[in-house]
Amino acid sequence: MNAPNTASAAATSDPLGDLAPALFRPMGVDGVYARSALYVNVTERLESYVTRLREPEAEVMRFPPVMSRKQLEKSGYLKSFPNLLGCVCALHGSEPSIRAAADRHEAGGDWTESLSASDLVLSPAACYPVYPIAAARGPLPAGGLQFDIEADVFRHEPSKSLDRLQSFRMREFVRIGSPQEIVEYRERWLARAPAIAADLSLPHAIDVASDPFFGRVGQMMAVSQRQQALKFEMLIPYHAGATPTACMSFNYHRDHFGQVWSMHDQHGEPAHTSCVAFGIDRLVVAMFANLGLDLDRWPAVTRRALAL
Ligand code: 5GP
Ligand code: ZN
Repeated sequence: MNAPNTASAAATSDPLGDLAPALFRPMGVDGVYARSALYVNVTERLESYVTRLREPEAEVMRFPPVMSRKQLEKSGYLKSFPNLLGCVCALHGSEPSIRAAADRHEAGGDWTESLSASDLVLSPAACYPVYPIAAARGPLPAGGLQFDIEADVFRHEPSKSLDRLQSFRMREFVRIGSPQEIVEYRERWLARAPAIAADLSLPHAIDVASDPFFGRVGQMMAVSQRQQALKFEMLIPYHAGATPTACMSFNYHRDHFGQVWSMHDQHGEPAHTSCVAFGIDRLVVAMFANLGLDLDRWPAVTRRALAL
């Protein structure tokens, strides 16, 4: 029997829709998909490729998909992207009140009215939890710190497009140090970007960018971010003539996290930070969209890079 096990219905309005049946399985909500064996195979190989790019100083850490709500609030996330944030809610209270809420659902009512916020949010980017961990270690060692981190992140922006997921995997190389160390770090990774795109056989452009800050004040924040060239993106078109999709970002936060978490460098100056983010899901979809579904026909350079 043919089970209704493809994401094609979820993606009919998307030019990438033809890919969906091979890569994703629907889970009942736009932008939230199960991944097929073919997709996971390439994801795991891409992750290994990224691992080989890692600098030897980097400390590896993996985060769960949730983080402390207090820590994210303290990071200033609500000033910038309150619309994207997902908070974990639960039924708190006594056994009778929890039972009453659950029974309301059984009777056709709305159990969610009784929810209240827990002390967790869904991580909206992989790197937020790493700064308080680094800060708790005291002053930065000479040469600063580097991390290789990853999390499944959540952003509340439902979409039928296969490159706009609500839950997606983000791998990041994070650097914490003096302004000079951070600027050098980001320059080094920006310089490596074309070779990464070439290994993956992806057409690309690197351009200055801004985050999607919320509201009218946010538009001013975005202008200032661009003026200071704090964010660059690797942009990849998914098909000829398509508006390119940001698949990697190269971010300089200046001393924002240093100030928030009282992190200081050797000279007592607030630490500066940078993160290089690999949008793993976007890179994988970009490869299938540009190179096709038959891995045997992918270019030799990419087959080598992914050990296919
Ligand atoms: P940023 O923090 O720069 O917004 O995101 C880092 C990377 O995550 C982006 O360069 C992109 O590759 C990936 N990303 C951001 N938003 C989405 C999304 O909606 N869906 C997917 N699949 N990846 C995303
Ligand atoms: Zn980051």
